[in-house]
Amino acid sequence: MADTIPNTIFDVAVIGGGPAGYTAAIRGAEYGLKVALIDASPRLGGTCLHVGCIPTKALLFNAEIWDHLKHADEFGIGGIGTPTLDWAAVLRRKDSIITRHVKGLEFLMKKHKITVVPGFACLTGPAQNGIHTVDVTVNGAASQVQAKNVIVATGSEAKMLPGLKADDRILTNIEILSLAAPPKSLVVIGAGAVGVEFASIFQSFGTEVTILEFLPRIVPVEDEEISKELTRLFKKRGIDVNTGARVEKVEKTDAGVKVTYTDANGKTQVKEAEKVLVGVGRAGLTANIGIEKTKIELERGLVKVNEAQETAEPGIFAIGDIVSGLPQLAHVGAMAGMVAMAKIAGRPFRPIRRDRIPGCTYTEPQIGSVGLTEAQAKEKGHTVKVGKFPFAGNSKATIVGSHDGFVKIVADAQYGEILGVHILGPQATELIAEAVAVLELEGTVEEMMSTIHAHPTLTESMLDAYAAVNGMAINA
Ligand SMILES: Cc1cc2nc3c(=O)[nH]c(=O)nc-3n(C[C@H](O)[C@H](O)[C@H](O)COP(=O)(O)OP(=O)(O)OC[C@H]3O[C@@H](n4cnc5c(N)ncnc54)[C@H](O)[C@@H]3O)c2cc1C
Repeated sequence: MADTIPNTIFDVAVIGGGPAGYTAAIRGAEYGLKVALIDASPRLGGTCLHVGCIPTKALLFNAEIWDHLKHADEFGIGGIGTPTLDWAAVLRRKDSIITRHVKGLEFLMKKHKITVVPGFACLTGPAQNGIHTVDVTVNGAASQVQAKNVIVATGSEAKMLPGLKADDRILTNIEILSLAAPPKSLVVIGAGAVGVEFASIFQSFGTEVTILEFLPRIVPVEDEEISKELTRLFKKRGIDVNTGARVEKVEKTDAGVKVTYTDANGKTQVKEAEKVLVGVGRAGLTANIGIEKTKIELERGLVKVNEAQETAEPGIFAIGDIVSGLPQLAHVGAMAGMVAMAKIAGRPFRPIRRDRIPGCTYTEPQIGSVGLTEAQAKEKGHTVKVGKFPFAGNSKATIVGSHDGFVKIVADAQYGEILGVHILGPQATELIAEAVAVLELEGTVEEMMSTIHAHPTLTESMLDAYAAVNGMAINA
């Protein structure tokens, strides 16, 4: 507790114990800095661990097993009768994974001698004589933490449509993760990563899923071909995908919810369902934390930072979902935390490059992408060469029974530099790691065509895709 350490001046006070904040805290301790980590929640881990990355992927893994069991006979597995889903056990497993990792974080904080301060933190203004003071409130009791530097990592929350409030039928990522049972029907508003992931998971569990997306395509930040193929595959799985759909009204009915929307042809449509998930983006938690007492500048509610994650207020840094101009992803927040701590410790660092950030969407099949899309590369003036290889030509994909999707390489035609890699298919979120390294090392198509990939693996589809840029894929 802060009031038990009144005479301590920390090198850094980190506000927020999500992946951005706890990573920064650990890196700071590794540099030998004296670090305090303040979190309003009694359990560290933030959105990512409690109601984001980890629980959704736990459910997705259950969904994958369930999908395989539905086709057990294809794998020669008989005698298991009709599989049944014990939803309470599914949720228990998810919760136990969370608890295990909360304990892991507590262990890491102790190991690195990080002072964990429970409570809601608020900035008090600029540093006085080089020392910042942060007010901390817990259960009505106030205390203060003093530090030479402050890193703000307060994260984000789900945006709601105007006039709506989350409850047992109108859901955000929080409520949907503890439903008593998979709903019979679900309308998903918004087809970014969060929306399509829940759509995919619940469709596997037997929910009738309808997606309503305002933009002309789902997963709109991805390469257009990825959006198109995922739409086709979702429709094949029975998900009702509606793009260009503007939601006008969400009302509660006796049985659930009624969503009125204008479809792509301008016609009013009504969709009734047991539940509705609102997945229309996330708002940075920048209110009520004293930002107005500092020189910190906001841009549409998010904090402006320089390449070292410094805000306009000397000695105050910002990382994670509250930062403007970077995607709201756990691994981006974590790397930003390491950049900020390196700057504070006077160590070398590499600023985060937006075009080197992997984007992963954990649907069935998965999406993994990094770098420029074909359209972005052309916009930037590159003469582009594209190579595409379907998983249908990959022997490991046949073995794991997952032939949908492709690897697409976007390369510069003149020098062969690989500018972007876009994967839709089995283990795409793992495969993309190779592509991130290739882009980071400015690899070319020719170099990657000569890089030996083990057989039989899904990564061979990458080798074939690099070769496809020069029309020389072996397996297609
Ligand atoms: C459903 C869903 C699935 C997702 N899946 C993925 C995924 O697979 N991969 C991925 O990379 N990203 C994923 N994300 C995004 C990821 O969760 C966020 O990018 C990440 O959690 C941001 O980390 P953060 O540390 O900035 O904030 P958070 O994780 O939100 O943590 C912020 C912390 O700050 C604390 N806090 C807030 N205000 C205060 C205050 N004033 N004082 C003290 N403490 C405070 C909170 O209690 C919280 O612990 C997902 C998000 C959602 C919603």
